[in-house]
Amino acid sequence: MTAHRTDDHVHDLLGIGVGPFNLGLACLAEPLGLDAVFLERRGELRWHPGMMLDDAVLQVPFLADLVTMADPTSRFSFLSYLKQRGRLYPFYVRESFYPLRREFDDYCRWAADEVGTVAYHREAVAVTRTHDATGPVYVVACRDPRDGSRSTYRARHLVLGVGSEPHRPEALAGLTGAVWHSSDYLHVRDRLLGADDVTVVGSGQSAAEVVSDLLAADGHGRQRLQWLTRSPRFFPLEYTKLTLELTSPEYSRHFRRLDADRRDALLREQAGLYKGISAPLVDQIHEQLYRRSLDAVPQPRLAACAEVVDGRTEETPRGSRHTLRLRQTETGEEYEVETSAVVLATGYARATPRFLDGVRDRLRLDGHGRLDAREDFSVDREGGEVFVQNAEIHTHGFVAPDLGMGAWRNAAILERVLGEAPYEVERRVMFQDFGVPEGARRVVPAGAAR
Ligand SMILES: Cc1cc2nc3c(=O)[nH]c(=O)nc-3n(C[C@H](O)[C@H](O)[C@H](O)COP(=O)(O)OP(=O)(O)OC[C@H]3O[C@@H](n4cnc5c(N)ncnc54)[C@H](O)[C@@H]3O)c2cc1C
Repeated sequence: MTAHRTDDHVHDLLGIGVGPFNLGLACLAEPLGLDAVFLERRGELRWHPGMMLDDAVLQVPFLADLVTMADPTSRFSFLSYLKQRGRLYPFYVRESFYPLRREFDDYCRWAADEVGTVAYHREAVAVTRTHDATGPVYVVACRDPRDGSRSTYRARHLVLGVGSEPHRPEALAGLTGAVWHSSDYLHVRDRLLGADDVTVVGSGQSAAEVVSDLLAADGHGRQRLQWLTRSPRFFPLEYTKLTLELTSPEYSRHFRRLDADRRDALLREQAGLYKGISAPLVDQIHEQLYRRSLDAVPQPRLAACAEVVDGRTEETPRGSRHTLRLRQTETGEEYEVETSAVVLATGYARATPRFLDGVRDRLRLDGHGRLDAREDFSVDREGGEVFVQNAEIHTHGFVAPDLGMGAWRNAAILERVLGEAPYEVERRVMFQDFGVPEGARRVVPAGAAR
């Protein structure tokens, strides 16, 4: 089946955007004989190329690959990839659950080649809905980013897997010149290494990886490095077993049943579950700082509770000169720091894609204009026609971007599309109860509405 058909053919399933989540869907759909096509605007799969650091590892075990948690027998598993690449024994001897990030990137390209249903250079620009004799049909208009040429695809079911976009805080909108989001780090690394001083803003995993890489690359301690975050501390990712149990279908179901304001508040409280720094990397950076403190070289400045409230850039003969105005969030005092290059490790944002404008009136949107996903991840008013991948953190919780839950979500989406479950969709996998245990005798507090 060719992925490049652009006529009146109606596919069963169409995925927009091919990151790990929709790629996993392509791989799980393939053995089912579903007529599926997946549109990707880039010319090949490249997983976070700006952060493909040599020594970076996946933050989840290899079992969180594209398919295994839904179908351990799948030919698209990470172990199958290693076998085909002739690297299964070295992986076995390596005895680590955590593949290199580069390896996962290569695995995704391998799986995309194997599955054969990805159409590249296809950027979805508009979606409309029509009908044929059989039922509703979604029409996806695409453009080829290389030459602007147009094509159209049709399908009964849509799955949106467009990921998230680099987030640039409003307070830093005034900066120009040498300022980049961490998603571009490796593309500008040489320029950063050439700068007299660099400031990294943010305290997630990407921020820490950038700081550690700059420290390692600046062996002679020539560069002045600042690491600033508004968070109360450079906190670690919580990674203990009972906390990891929240990465589960039953916790996601519990979370989704809370009211929207409670969910938003919980997500802010749960930053440590998905926004922190892996503990080994925290220790590695401390060790780098400790070793550097032996040398008479500029010591990096690390500051938590340092919120950037404004920024301006002056172009000088020696390049950009940025002035950042900071507020110490505990004392409220404001102060300024200067720097010549800024890395914004300020995360990613999800917006409702503009290409959905043509079907917006058929979608469930919450009070903030966010797609309001049901338990089965569908977001269309009828239900079961349009689904989201990793766009439902505000309804299903912090597990949305977690690779470990990708295969489960895809099994749930396929169950809804097919009306039966080709793969088991587990309802309960952990030891803890979340919310009121099923079957518990409920008590109505005195005075409460019956
Ligand atoms: C550096 C980094 C490392 C991470 N490491 C881990 C990890 O180890 N473990 C973990 O659980 N999570 C990790 N994550 C979080 C998360 O798993 C990843 O962000 C993951 O890539 C999300 O996959 P996705 O399929 O939602 O989107 P993406 O990987 O962002 O892919 C979306 C795709 O959609 C395409 N696209 C967008 N718009 C269109 C359009 N209009 N038409 C066609 N194509 C379009 C894009 O080109 C892109 O290829 C990491 C995140 C980052 C940033």
